[in-house]
Amino acid sequence: MEIFHISAECYPVAKVGGLADVVGALPKYQNNAGHLARVVIPCYDTKFKKENEFDCVHWGTVKLGKFNFSFSVLKESTDKLGFELYLVEIPELFDRKNVYGYEDDIERFLSFQIATLDWIIGRAGKPDVINCHDHHTGLIPFMMLYCNKYQKLRNTPSMITIHNGLYQGQFGFDKLHYLPEFDLSHVNVLEWDNCINSLAVGIKCAWAVTTVSPNYLNEINYSANGLESLFNVVRYKSKGILNGIDTEVWDPAKDKMLEKNYSVANFEIGKQQNKEILCALFNLDPTKPLFSFIGRLLEEKGGDLLPHATALAMSENYKEINILILGSGNPEIENQLNHLLPDYKGNYNTFIGYNEELAHLIYAGADFLLMPSRVEPCGLNQMYSLRYGTIPIVRRTGGLKDTVIDFGDNGNGICHDQASVGDICYSIQRAIQLYQDKENLNKIRKVGMLTDHSWERVCQEYIEVYNLIINKV
Ligand code: ADP
Repeated sequence: MEIFHISAECYPVAKVGGLADVVGALPKYQNNAGHLARVVIPCYDTKFKKENEFDCVHWGTVKLGKFNFSFSVLKESTDKLGFELYLVEIPELFDRKNVYGYEDDIERFLSFQIATLDWIIGRAGKPDVINCHDHHTGLIPFMMLYCNKYQKLRNTPSMITIHNGLYQGQFGFDKLHYLPEFDLSHVNVLEWDNCINSLAVGIKCAWAVTTVSPNYLNEINYSANGLESLFNVVRYKSKGILNGIDTEVWDPAKDKMLEKNYSVANFEIGKQQNKEILCALFNLDPTKPLFSFIGRLLEEKGGDLLPHATALAMSENYKEINILILGSGNPEIENQLNHLLPDYKGNYNTFIGYNEELAHLIYAGADFLLMPSRVEPCGLNQMYSLRYGTIPIVRRTGGLKDTVIDFGDNGNGICHDQASVGDICYSIQRAIQLYQDKENLNKIRKVGMLTDHSWERVCQEYIEVYNLIINKV
């Protein structure tokens, strides 16, 4: 089966969060299973782009209203990622350091989608399926169905995978003329809440919709940032497929970002060695339990609860625990977290920013990983931490509910229900008690390390959905 994944992110080329990890792994495993999966993302100004060789396979011009942008499609020469990687280079719009966060993001991602389809229709043959990811590629299923110039793709099945339904790529009808010519009798398909909503359009037009966990699919029927009723209507073509993890990248026994590798056979020593390295770097006490957080410091991740929860946990357990926060996001939360530093020196530290290597060291060296998320479509951090023998402390929501079971129910982690400081601190207290009971602690760690979240198993579920829609043609 020939599959095109079209996305804004792909690890290790350009990563902001879990979307990159999924798009950097799933196609590799689809190829291993005998399919031909390709990935197309915009060409940002990243280290990967500078350090690798590319061949130009196509060039053209994107017309966006009165603007014309030249573009080329570059293929990574060696397929070193385990799939064919294509970068759509539109210098004026994407030759920038960051993936998102620019005023012209709508123009950027719309141009990317148009350029990608222009290139695909110019190629010989047709893909069997086009898998779009999140709102940045949500207009593709519409354009395939209704834009005159993409007629060739009208019968090609498209699927949209929702990694995060909070972000929807809305814009006004004043930009309608950016879209390539289409039959205006379908203009209402673009509308949601008086604007063009890229995610809603993708959900309406794609032949199948998947979310990145089964529980998230249930939740968005009643909480989806305004799209609840739409999710109800498309339930018949929706499926929740729990993300896998790339067990080649995330393997404590082979992880090149760790100085001290370890496996399930020697995890006790291995984790302690990593903890000592981590604690030395951040002036923490390696004899005390280490709680960590990795992620975007935003309300959706419960980031706003962290400063108060940290202060309370620290004062209740004075000098008995360590907390280390790695993340960036809302500057107010960042400041509040840094503001606590002088009060808890030696037991508390932060790294405000993005640091892939440090994330790996934390998964290896921490004892517990905090995930007090309000919204978590799947969550990968808890799966990485399980694989590294670090016990996740999660709020039961989205994919966290699908993957973490409280140790009181013979599970692999610690769970609470409310996104509140009280619930986080209560879980920390339970973790401190568990930490004293080494036998039980190590039993739970081992269960986590042995859990199979590999893509080998999961990627077949994607193929089943593709087959369903291909058989409709
Ligand atoms: P989301 O995509 O919503 O941010 P996920 O749990 O799906 O959350 O994925 C987060 C990914 O991003 C993980 O690979 C995590 O390790 C990584 N990550 C998040 N923040 C940081 C950071 N500040 N530094 C390094 N890695 C980070």
